[in-house]
Amino acid sequence: MISTKKIQMVDLKGQYQKIKKEVDASIQQVIDTTAFINGPAVKEFQTDLENYLKVKHVIPCANGTDALQIAMMALELKPGDEVITASFTYVATAEVIGLLGLVPVLVDVNPDTFDIDLDAIERNITPKTKAIVPVHLFGQSANMEKIMLIAKKHNLFVIEDVAQAIGGDYFFEDGNKAKTGTIGTIGCTSFFPSKNLGCYGDGGAMFTNDDELAKKLRMIAHHGQSVQYKHDVLGVNSRLDTIQAAILKVKLKHLDEYAASRNKVAEHYDNAFANHPKLKTPTRSKHSNHVFHQYTLKLTNIDRTKLREQLAERGISSMVYYPIPLHFQKAFASDRNKQGDFPVTEKLCEQVLSLPMHTELDEDTLNYITKTFLELIG
Ligand SMILES: *Cc1c(COP(=O)(O)O)cnc(C)c1O
Repeated sequence: MISTKKIQMVDLKGQYQKIKKEVDASIQQVIDTTAFINGPAVKEFQTDLENYLKVKHVIPCANGTDALQIAMMALELKPGDEVITASFTYVATAEVIGLLGLVPVLVDVNPDTFDIDLDAIERNITPKTKAIVPVHLFGQSANMEKIMLIAKKHNLFVIEDVAQAIGGDYFFEDGNKAKTGTIGTIGCTSFFPSKNLGCYGDGGAMFTNDDELAKKLRMIAHHGQSVQYKHDVLGVNSRLDTIQAAILKVKLKHLDEYAASRNKVAEHYDNAFANHPKLKTPTRSKHSNHVFHQYTLKLTNIDRTKLREQLAERGISSMVYYPIPLHFQKAFASDRNKQGDFPVTEKLCEQVLSLPMHTELDEDTLNYITKTFLELIG
């Protein structure tokens, strides 16, 4: 089959068509009641998500970047405090650290699972270190069990960036499990449309099992207000829109089924690309399942730019997450970070390629993608 339609990285329209009736009714209800700000749907979604994640508190907010910022504010991190995070991530993670006057201490990642390197965390801990921010990149959890041990030993907070991995399961060595993002001091996620649980605009949330911390997170997200017109701390204005909550309430019910569809796509790619000398398919962690926010290959001896052009000519989208390491970015220029400091990250930025990954990819389309891809790389 030759596809005439462009194959996108995500297909929000196709996904919407299948749940249109339910979503439209849910949105209409908000409009009918004009409960636009903090309407009942926000609380309902919050409760649904608490039950789904088996976490005591979900605090909705305006986006994932705000979630990270509010988390760091609630933990009372002060200018000059050092926060360790991965050098191979989306900019938001490190951005808020810098924005609050904290020092982003970047550390390298593992070359196969793309998660933060545990030895590198330990090597970078100083008396000024206050927190670790692991990023569960592409849909798979970092090694939280070990990270929590390091944090405990050095008395550090752990803020999980679970923007790309909501819905996953984390498996502890003793056989217990927990939802990805609910193990650290605070978990932070995003409901950006293309995320695994995406709304139709911006949205985000924080999770915690700590009652006091939950109160503080909620307060900071609402102008530092404890009761109306009483402002105890400096806060921000970061609300989850009611219409977005109404959409998320519907989509949460489908999250597991969406993860299963994504895994099916990944299996198809895995089978097609297995043992190819120029390709390395994604490595599955032992301690977590994968919800495949992205399906990311590592290429060797392939001209990536040319390949992407050739794929595009044949209607196949592809993306490089992420093309430029954080420490090469002007905004993060620092005496701490020099070229060569994070060799794994630098290499990954040159090697990675993500293929279309979403819930609406059918067999024919997948066959077309893999066949075309294999023909092009020879
Ligand atoms: C998307 C994303 C964010 C930011 O979320 P927004 O809702 O866009 O602010 C943060 N961290 C990671 C890893 C992300 O993928």
